Amino acid sequence: MAVPRNRTSNARKNSRRSHHAKSPKHLGNCSNCKQPCLPHRICPHCGFYGGKDIENAKKD
Ligand SMILES: [Zn+2]
Repeated sequence: MAVPRNRTSNARKNSRRSHHAKSPKHLGNCSNCKQPCLPHRICPHCGFYGGKDIENAKKD
């Protein structure tokens, strides 16, 4: 197996990891209550998804 000839310096290691940062979560706005909520999920504030009230429809 190949073995690295030279130790990777801290500067080289850190500059390689400069692209590893996490990006912030993408939040959309609910079409019903305009609160920020995750896309493709039922709104936690009003229970709407796709223009329909899913939370109240489950209770019936
Ligand atoms: Zn909502």
